[in-house]
Amino acid sequence: MKKDLVNILACPIDKSYPLQLEIFRSNGPEIESGIFICSKCKRWYPIIREIPELLPDDLRDDYTEFKTKWKTQFERLNIK
Ligand SMILES: [Zn+2]
Repeated sequence: MKKDLVNILACPIDKSYPLQLEIFRSNGPEIESGIFICSKCKRWYPIIREIPELLPDDLRDDYTEFKTKWKTQFERLNIK
């Protein structure tokens, strides 16, 4: 996804925006991996293979693989 997309994405739970964008890996203008953090509800949403996944709780994966892959980033951001 392009970085500019952060300007139009909102939290699916409380519609809060803009979301905080943390980039884990990018390729030129394309963000390959990262997360969005909602400052209101503190939920986070992943960007996986350039695709942002902003899903409500009942559709949300637990993202174990993603969190393991980016363990140091999650620790840096103090996200459980
Ligand atoms: Zn939220």
